[in-house]
Amino acid sequence: MTNAWQVAAVVGWSAAGAAAVALVALRRRWAAELERFRAVSERDALCGVYNKGALVSLVSDLFGRRGTRLRGTLLLVDIDRFKDVNDEFGHAEGDEILRAVGEALSRGFRAGDIVGRFGGDEFMVFAEGLVDPATIGEKVAALREATREAGLAHVGRPVTCSVGALVIDGRAATYDAALRQADAALYEAKRSGRDRHVTVAYEEPICPAAGERRTGAREASFDV
Ligand code: GH3
Ligand code: MG
Repeated sequence: MTNAWQVAAVVGWSAAGAAAVALVALRRRWAAELERFRAVSERDALCGVYNKGALVSLVSDLFGRRGTRLRGTLLLVDIDRFKDVNDEFGHAEGDEILRAVGEALSRGFRAGDIVGRFGGDEFMVFAEGLVDPATIGEKVAALREATREAGLAHVGRPVTCSVGALVIDGRAATYDAALRQADAALYEAKRSGRDRHVTVAYEEPICPAAGERRTGAREASFDV
């Protein structure tokens, strides 16, 4: 009798042990699946960089965390006359160019920098710690060259892009004000002829409404 109880106890404990092991394995697999799903859900399906939701959340969180000591460059990149490229050569070729620009951005910045597709033919990068004008110029030049090359490779003619670069050097910047100022710099690059970048230094907005005007950037430096 004692033996039967002992056998039953051993069998019971073994089954419980096996169930616990299986449960742990299942939870691990579930966690890995969730992580994979999370990673996929924050990427742009075409370009592989962050999609707009993840991009804005990562950049604005970073701005919030750094407070008054934010140092880095916010870049907005927009392909020039991209609608014409699509109209002339088709969306499939246009997609290849978008993919190449996404790749060039991912390649050109550090792994910890935040690179994403802001929408349509517009990309955003926040490179923390990057404030040296020469280095910014080199990175933007490499991107513009890669865009030109992508055009030559896919549609047989160079494609250009315009860039607005906002440098924040140890300031208390808000994401909204920074976005408006980078956007104003990009707008200035477009307005003054495209295929160029305009770099501006972050300025604390005097009042929220003042920063909202999409006018030319102050203290702009042009690089054609
Ligand atoms: P600008 O120099 O002023 O930026 O001119 P643009 O033609 O690039 O500007 P516009 O905003 O009028 O056009 C953007 C184009 O980007 C329109 C749309 O056809 C194209 N586009 C947006 N998303 C995609 C996409 O996922 N794939 C492709 N192939 N084209 C896209
Ligand atoms: Mg465009």
